[in-house]
Amino acid sequence: MSSISDSFAADPLNVTGDKFRQLEELLPTPNSYRTASGAPGHAYWQQQADYDIKVSLDDEQQLITASETITYTNNSPDTLRYLWVQLDQNRFKPDSSGNLATPVDLEAIAPDTIPFKSFRRALVSGEFPGGYQITKVADARGRELRHTIVDTGMRIDLPQPLASGSSVSFQIDWAYKVIEQKALGGRSGYEYFERDDNYLYEIAQWFPRMAAYNDVSGWQNKQFLGRGEFALEFGDYRVAIEVPADHIVAATGVLQNPKDVLTSKQRERLRRARTASKPVMIVTKDEALENEKSRSTKRKTWVFEAENVRDFSWASSRKFLWDAQGYKKGGTDTMAMSFYPEEGTPLWDKYSTESIIHTIDVYNRYSFDYPYPVSISVNGPVGGMEYPMITFNGPRPEIDEEDRSKRTYSRRTKYGLISVIIHEVGHNYYPMIINSDERQWTWMDEGLNTFVQFLAEQEWEEKYPSRRGDARKIVEYMKSENQVPIMTNSESVLQLGNNAYGKPAAALNILRESIMGRELFDFAFREYAQRWKFKRPMPADFFRTMEDASGMDLDWFWRGWFYTTDNVDISLDAVRHYTVGTQNPEVEGPWKRAQHNREPETVTVVENRTKKLTRIVDAKPELEDFYNTHDEFDVSNADRNSYQSKLENLEDWEKDMLKVESNVYVLDFSNIGGLVMPLFLRLEYEDGSVEDLRIPAEIWTRNAKKTSKMLVRDKSKVLKSVVLDPHWETADVNVENNFYPRRIIKSRLELFKDEKQRNLMKDWDEELKEED
Ligand SMILES: [Zn+2]
Repeated sequence: MSSISDSFAADPLNVTGDKFRQLEELLPTPNSYRTASGAPGHAYWQQQADYDIKVSLDDEQQLITASETITYTNNSPDTLRYLWVQLDQNRFKPDSSGNLATPVDLEAIAPDTIPFKSFRRALVSGEFPGGYQITKVADARGRELRHTIVDTGMRIDLPQPLASGSSVSFQIDWAYKVIEQKALGGRSGYEYFERDDNYLYEIAQWFPRMAAYNDVSGWQNKQFLGRGEFALEFGDYRVAIEVPADHIVAATGVLQNPKDVLTSKQRERLRRARTASKPVMIVTKDEALENEKSRSTKRKTWVFEAENVRDFSWASSRKFLWDAQGYKKGGTDTMAMSFYPEEGTPLWDKYSTESIIHTIDVYNRYSFDYPYPVSISVNGPVGGMEYPMITFNGPRPEIDEEDRSKRTYSRRTKYGLISVIIHEVGHNYYPMIINSDERQWTWMDEGLNTFVQFLAEQEWEEKYPSRRGDARKIVEYMKSENQVPIMTNSESVLQLGNNAYGKPAAALNILRESIMGRELFDFAFREYAQRWKFKRPMPADFFRTMEDASGMDLDWFWRGWFYTTDNVDISLDAVRHYTVGTQNPEVEGPWKRAQHNREPETVTVVENRTKKLTRIVDAKPELEDFYNTHDEFDVSNADRNSYQSKLENLEDWEKDMLKVESNVYVLDFSNIGGLVMPLFLRLEYEDGSVEDLRIPAEIWTRNAKKTSKMLVRDKSKVLKSVVLDPHWETADVNVENNFYPRRIIKSRLELFKDEKQRNLMKDWDEELKEED
């Protein structure tokens, strides 16, 4: 894989040479669907896909059996002869493209090594009978529709082409075996609890979903290989979920039949929760522990409806505790709810629902009011994954198996849980509502979301230990080898977490705090969210909107941070101090002499003096003359006359210039890392005063490698030192060249002992330890 800055040949638009070259040449040409301002155009369109699904969960065999009717509305100006449906579960077929094309890295830690987890996944994925059994594809009247399965996609050929503006309904029946998430990874699956012999299901990518069809890529035809996530259409859902009668179900949408599935006590608690000031238990711990022991043979059907969502997901288990709290503010009126096994306490009951509400409160301010009626956080096997109105979050406390009431958790687990809930709930905004194409661009949802996550974390408590967002957190990555630009397709991204989450989050934070300022940035960022909510933005729409709404040309920033792997390393090479020459020989002569006298003596002069060298003029003083008593700096009348006549030729204002006594400083900078950035300077003066100066990045427009800045200061202001980027706000990868004068670098030298050699003779006599 070659980086974008490899050669000029690979860079016909001179991406790397001219750092301020406008992006129009790289961005798609604006049209009536997407305008040059970054807003949706007057002819913007998107497809609609509505679903009516009946699904049954077999808790004995971990099997899903389901049937759906999809109603697809063609809002495009095009006639469609066939439809594409996504079959994501086929990713888990042993011979899926995703399985076959997953490379192995046996050098990750040392040569010929592989983590246990990866090896188990390789073994299980080769055997597990995953993927869909499609048993029926039929039109609204039950007539078989011709269809072709291509890996994780299925083309359905329409007997009648679907004209612009019309709809078609069709039916698909299927079944599949749910994967064990811990064995196979992925974004859904079951977890088995051996102690109480129960299962917990997190079910997602579970139904055949319409592939996206849009003005930029036509049918989205990138297969699901495992990393690039989803490109989906909005629609309305009605989903009937049949599960064992003692299960509790959490799902996207609003429960339609609470009387069929909830006790009157639970319904009463839910009513109370709506206006409660803290979470109310709907299913308590004691009730959940009772449920765990039951084995109902009866079945119940939970019916949910959801409007204007791009996906639907659910969770089911008899282990669930359930708490809820209503949140109503502005245009938001929602129930925040958490579902977790008792293994999640005491962390989940304390933090989950609070974290959901906090997320919505903060994200609303930076984007739009959360529009959905529920927002759910579920604890299960999945580490962190988002769906509309429902998220799966992994962290749990550690349980002492000797005494299960003894529970502890690490600092990392606590903040990891709060952060992952903020992150996954935050995905409701990016990309569940601002519906970017995740299969193409991971950064558009992960990067933007991680940025707002950072803002929400910092509003949780002072000095919240955010892993990403601050400029200094991305420095190690920016220095690293093996990078690709942020603008890289999801599957080809290297160092995914840093590339698609950390770097865009840091870049946006730098834009906000250091380049645009909070007011301009927040206005433009919110404008992007408002323009594109319930629509499908592309990268150019984001770049253009941020400039359009702020009045700032940020092409240099997008170009550097999103299209290259350059880093920030600006060096303050020199500080030169000038005072204005008076041209008056009476002043300049002595000044020049003083400068001359400041030069060190030559070694010859020093040695000769030490050796007490005798010279000829010492012996014969008559050899001395005029030049032995006058040096080149002496001022003559000729000099004085010449000065007078020069002055007569000057205008009055020019004469005034010669009298200026200011200190003039010229600061020389070089750009080592490649990224052009503003120059943030802290100037310290001899009188102890400090001045902060912020110079825009445009100082690099004429020469992106070297630039100089002249500063004129009062004669009383004598510069003592200069620090570039004193707050570490630009992610400069080498701060040592930011000091003038330079400073001595302090570090620790760590000593270590050689490892002991194996002594077989001694080891031989060691006794075998008994197993305890
Ligand atoms: Zn994410």
